[in-house]
Amino acid sequence: MTIHQLHRTSAAAPDRPGWQVTAYTPGLGDGRRQQIVGLLTSELAVDARRTGPQQPSGPQRRGGESGFGPLPGSEAGSAQGPWASAGQRGAGLSLSYSLLADGAAVICRTVGTGVDFAGRPGNVFQHALLLTEPDRDLGGLLPADLWWWPGWADRPADGDLPAVERLVVDSPMPWHEAIARAQELYGDGRLAALLASVRGATRGGGAVRIVLVEQGPAATVRTIRLVTGSLPRASALAMTFSVPVGHPEQSRHVLVGVPVGAGLDPAAIPFGVRFETHRLHGGTGPEPGAGGGSTGGGTAPRDVGAPAGTDGARADEHRADEQWPDEHWADVSWGEVAARVWAAGRPDVLAAASASFADADAAQRLAAVAAGAGVPLASPPGDPAPGSARSPAAGPVPAPLPPGAEGWGRVRRRAVVKALRPGGYARGAALFGAGAAIAFGQLGARLLALPARTLAAGPPVLRPAGDEAAYPGYFTPAGQAIVDLGAIGDALAEALRTAGPEFAAAGPARWPGPFLGQSASARRCWRMWRAGTAIGVAVAGGLARTAFAVHRTLVITTIAVLRLADAALRFAEAARWLLRETRPARPTLAMFRRLGELGADCPYPDCARPLGRPFYECPNTHCRRRHDDLRPGRGGLLYRVCACGTRLRTWAPGRRGRLASYCGSCEGRLPDGVGHLPIVHIALIGPPASGKTTMLVAALAGLQDLAYQRDLTLSFAFRPDETWYRRSMQMVADGGWLESTATPNPRALVVTVGIPRGPRRIVFFFDPDGDLYTDQQTLRTTHRYLERTHNALLVVDPSAQPALLDQLTPKQQAAANAAAHPAAEPTYDTMRRLIRVLHADRSLPRRGGRLALRLAVVVSKTDWLRGLPSVLRLPELTPEQQDGLVRYWLNQPARLPELGQEPSKEFTETRYWALSAADCLRGRNGTVNPAERIAAAEPVLWMLGASARGFRRLIIRQQKARQSSRHPALRDPTHRAHYAGLER
Ligand SMILES: [Zn+2]
Ligand SMILES: [Zn+2]
Repeated sequence: MTIHQLHRTSAAAPDRPGWQVTAYTPGLGDGRRQQIVGLLTSELAVDARRTGPQQPSGPQRRGGESGFGPLPGSEAGSAQGPWASAGQRGAGLSLSYSLLADGAAVICRTVGTGVDFAGRPGNVFQHALLLTEPDRDLGGLLPADLWWWPGWADRPADGDLPAVERLVVDSPMPWHEAIARAQELYGDGRLAALLASVRGATRGGGAVRIVLVEQGPAATVRTIRLVTGSLPRASALAMTFSVPVGHPEQSRHVLVGVPVGAGLDPAAIPFGVRFETHRLHGGTGPEPGAGGGSTGGGTAPRDVGAPAGTDGARADEHRADEQWPDEHWADVSWGEVAARVWAAGRPDVLAAASASFADADAAQRLAAVAAGAGVPLASPPGDPAPGSARSPAAGPVPAPLPPGAEGWGRVRRRAVVKALRPGGYARGAALFGAGAAIAFGQLGARLLALPARTLAAGPPVLRPAGDEAAYPGYFTPAGQAIVDLGAIGDALAEALRTAGPEFAAAGPARWPGPFLGQSASARRCWRMWRAGTAIGVAVAGGLARTAFAVHRTLVITTIAVLRLADAALRFAEAARWLLRETRPARPTLAMFRRLGELGADCPYPDCARPLGRPFYECPNTHCRRRHDDLRPGRGGLLYRVCACGTRLRTWAPGRRGRLASYCGSCEGRLPDGVGHLPIVHIALIGPPASGKTTMLVAALAGLQDLAYQRDLTLSFAFRPDETWYRRSMQMVADGGWLESTATPNPRALVVTVGIPRGPRRIVFFFDPDGDLYTDQQTLRTTHRYLERTHNALLVVDPSAQPALLDQLTPKQQAAANAAAHPAAEPTYDTMRRLIRVLHADRSLPRRGGRLALRLAVVVSKTDWLRGLPSVLRLPELTPEQQDGLVRYWLNQPARLPELGQEPSKEFTETRYWALSAADCLRGRNGTVNPAERIAAAEPVLWMLGASARGFRRLIIRQQKARQSSRHPALRDPTHRAHYAGLER
């Protein structure tokens, strides 16, 4: 690993703004550079030079620099000497050692560069080294040794900086400096306490900061070299430092060098951090007022748990031994022994004993190693410290109180007792408040994120049960919302259950200080902390419970509201069938009766069961699941999710034909729009060979022509129907006869007929074999579709009516038989049989004693009638005259009153037409009259018009159009006169 360098300066140059990285080693990534720059910026923020105390005016103040001035004369010779020549005009020097989160280290040296080119004073230049692997990159050096590194630059360079291959320092110098510093401090009686503090800080995990108040950074760096040199290497490398610092409470380093006069700002001390201040400046012994102790313990008045040797409290009667845990006494013992080792100039002994550094009996082990190495642990030469002078310690140091630390320890203990007693209640209140605030804040934040986190963690997803095709809807009584709600509820309960103990225990684990020991004060601290956190947890938990209750209520309300909406939508959908498709002028009884028309039978003959709700098939070709109940409900309000994940609309599914629908009974494919469009059944009635099928083809041809004119839309529901229709058209046009229907109960021929932008109807044409009508027993058992049929088309074959044929001569009869393919039996017989069967079925709707059936009577084969004597001939008819003229013709010339009058007595509505299907399809004399063909569709339009005005209007429009284009021959005055009296 190479060591990367980086230069940064606040000074602007003519070609460059200030606060720029001017140079760095290639290979230093952008992210890493940003990281280092951020670190350097924060170093400057706490730098004594910028924010520290004002240097007293005097000889030490130079140039434009304010703040931490040049090194005092007493230190300059030894510390700053080597680079004083290159040093910057009295600029303050600082050095910091920081660790990055990934274990890399940054060592930065900051020098003042004075005035920049534009005349602005107070600029700084920072030279940083990035040690990716500090232990290896330092190559046996300690970070503090780099103070003496000759490679530091004092001026910003431009361009690329070379990587530093190896850090080389004139090695004996730091060693000697540290020993010299150790002897100075030992002589002042301050070394043992300092080392004890440092050993404690290695266990503090960042919660302990050691503030070194010293005269100048050089002295501080020597001290840092001394204390880090006392530690095992790993601990020494973890001991970050910064020198000098104006605001120690803002620094994140463990060892903080502070100029004399700078102090801790009690209000800014972060909670949970313990500062231990060591005043190491001046050679005149303890601070005034520091009692008999040999060290200036922390003087920050409100250091949390800092030893506060503030006044010479009388030796009180409290036995304070229990104020400190055993580790503390181990630190004190070790500090005392280590101080003597340093004073003897043998720090190598410390390195030799580093393996036992962390042990409880480190002091004894160190003493043993020292004794083995021949280091005299007796008073070192020239020891002036009164506290140390009294100590006769030699050989293994007794634990827990080494003789040398006795005085210091007693003072410390007295101070602690003193500090805890008067401030106890205030501190209790503070702990109570802090506990409540911290617990409330942290638990509150955690609970706020709890629902999202719980749902992200994925409570069990309700999958469709074995035979269900779709996921249950989210907001349904058995839906996912309830599961999610339960999961959040469980998570909330769990969080609240563990929160109390957790928060009560959280503080002391990280913040030593007032919680240590078994004293009354510590117990009170504990009590107040626990009470505070309990209050915070209770308040946050109460709020969370309330919020959850509100949430649950909302969810349950939503489910209930959606249930109601389900019901409303179902009702609306049912009502829509009626209101939208039938468009009743006013709600009448007839309207509700017409609801029955919406019901339909399956068009498949082997099923023919009433179509309930059709089922829909999932459009996913790999899924094809059946959805029996595709409507607002269990699966969701507006859509449901198929088990395969496909979304299906519950509102009007299949309306536009996007979803295929199937009969629930026989699983046959249903015409699109079933369930949304009214279905009109039209049964064709007539004996065999009466021309029913030809009639059907003619009617379809008429509808098709209307569709070509864009007066109508027509589509076949099933492709085979369309194929059959085209083939039949061709056969009739070629002069053939259509074969009679093969099966007694055929599948309905289904077409969808609609007025553009108007009503649409699905029309089921039932065209059974005529034999069905010849046997009453068969008709009784298979007329099921007639139950629903409200429309029947009775085809009257005039060539099969005996009353008509009787009026012909035998020769005429023979010719007629040859031309007409007469039906198998008189139409009246068929009709009679049908009426008997229908009357027997009491379930059929009746009105005024008549069957509620709309009967269209169509006299077919009018082309054949044209060959009869003129007295029997049916005159050319105008459409508006059809009904009356045909009735008259049946009653009078044809002598068929049973067909002309009886249907009106049996059925609620009857209407008469006469047409030749052959003329419609084949054309008269080779030309097809379009008006005639369209007229063939009129009976069908009449039946459709029963429930939709749009079809009625279409009939009127067509009749008017035919009237205006009528052939002149049709206005024959003789026919007009002949039948004028018959018109209604
Ligand atoms: Zn599916
Ligand atoms: Zn079916």
